[in-house]
Amino acid sequence: MQRSGIGYDVHRFAEGRPLILGGVEIPHDKGLDGHSDADVLSHAIADAILGALALKDIGFYFPPSDASIEGISSLKILEKVRTLVDEKSATINNIDSTLITEQPKILPHVEAMKISLAAALGIDPDQVGVKATTNELMGCIGRGEGIAAMAVASVEILD
Ligand SMILES: [Zn+2]
Repeated sequence: MQRSGIGYDVHRFAEGRPLILGGVEIPHDKGLDGHSDADVLSHAIADAILGALALKDIGFYFPPSDASIEGISSLKILEKVRTLVDEKSATINNIDSTLITEQPKILPHVEAMKISLAAALGIDPDQVGVKATTNELMGCIGRGEGIAAMAVASVEILD
C-alpha cells in the first residue's frame, strides 16, 4: 500500500551553536537552538516518515525531557525512524523537503545533505529531495530569527 506523510519543524537561531542541517555542519555565524542538535531538516523528515506510517510524532519518540537525546545528532533520530519503518514492513519510496531561511545559502550544501540523510535512512541520495527558499523577508523567518523546514515522505507498506 502506498502511503504519504508530511512534516514541519522550525527552530530559532542561537549564538554559539553549530548550524546542522540534514546532518551537515554549515558554516554560519550562529546555529539553531534545541534539545538535540536542532537539525530542523532531519526533524521535518522524521515527522513526514512517521506520518506516512500513521505513527505518533517525533516529540513522542524523542521527548525534550529525555536526557539521552540531549545534543545528539538528529541522524540518530532518523536511524531510529528507519527501524520503525522496518518494523512496519515498509520501505521508503522517496523524501522531498524544503528549507525556508534567508541565510545562509543552502544550495552549496544540498548534495552533502542528501548523502547524509540517505545514509541514515538506508536509501539512495537520489530518493532524497532537498530544496531551499526564502520567506521574502516577511515574518519571523524573513527577519532571520530561525529556519523552518517542511518535508513529505512516500512509503510502501508491503503487507
Ligand atoms: Zn526540531
